[in-house]
Amino acid sequence: MLFDSHTHLESPRFEGDREAVIARAREAGVTRMVTCGSDLPTSRACVALAQAHAGLYAAVGIHPHEARSAAQEVAPGDVALDEAAFAELAELAGQRRIVALGEMGLDYHYDFSPRPVQRAVLAHQLALAAGLDLPVILHNRESDADLRRIVDAGPQELRGVLHCFLAESALAEWALGRGLYLGVAGPITFRSVTHLDEIVRQMPRERLLIETDCPYLAPEPRRGRRNEPAYVAYVAEHVARLWDTDSDTVAQLTAANASRLFGLDEHGR
Ligand SMILES: [Zn+2]
Repeated sequence: MLFDSHTHLESPRFEGDREAVIARAREAGVTRMVTCGSDLPTSRACVALAQAHAGLYAAVGIHPHEARSAAQEVAPGDVALDEAAFAELAELAGQRRIVALGEMGLDYHYDFSPRPVQRAVLAHQLALAAGLDLPVILHNRESDADLRRIVDAGPQELRGVLHCFLAESALAEWALGRGLYLGVAGPITFRSVTHLDEIVRQMPRERLLIETDCPYLAPEPRRGRRNEPAYVAYVAEHVARLWDTDSDTVAQLTAANASRLFGLDEHGR
């Protein structure tokens, strides 16, 4: 059993063969997947997909790239949230087969939304998640200090995952200390990414999730092509080498971890 904890199956890049992609995932042993929204339209699409496919669950949220779709900077440093957008997000989050809020976070590499807007939209979603008692799926790129600050200033009882973890060990230590999970994706299989191996080797095994982040970031040996959930097996194989165990053991452990975080098995979902 493999659990792909982070996908974007609603992506237009799966238009035309989405059902075949989901069927290939099942054949490869991927029994559970979470598909994550990035704004309201993709969140709605994720909800519909999850409700139509066994083993598929959804997260709804506003990605930092899309933060400007849900808030705007009305004066320097003064951000006005779009209350209707967040009301709809909360309504979507209450629907069947929604297991998390996200993805949300900060991205100072691309800066597709102004940073004050990214920060306000993240802080608001953290509070919303705590109010709804849902875990969060966090995105972070070149924004470690602000991510830590905003999460530490938010709800203490926060549960969640730092998805597609690529940062340095200091951020990993902070996240694990806060009770968060780390999600690793295809880049851990890249020759150019070596620091992650040591982090994953040393971290507590009950706190790791594996993911594809498809259609992006296909792992070796599929690198450069469109990614899909079946390829999460390559991430499991890589982790198995680091942990000096076999892929099935990694698959079972990480699936149990994801099921625990997302509350699957508890509510008969
Ligand atoms: Zn993603």
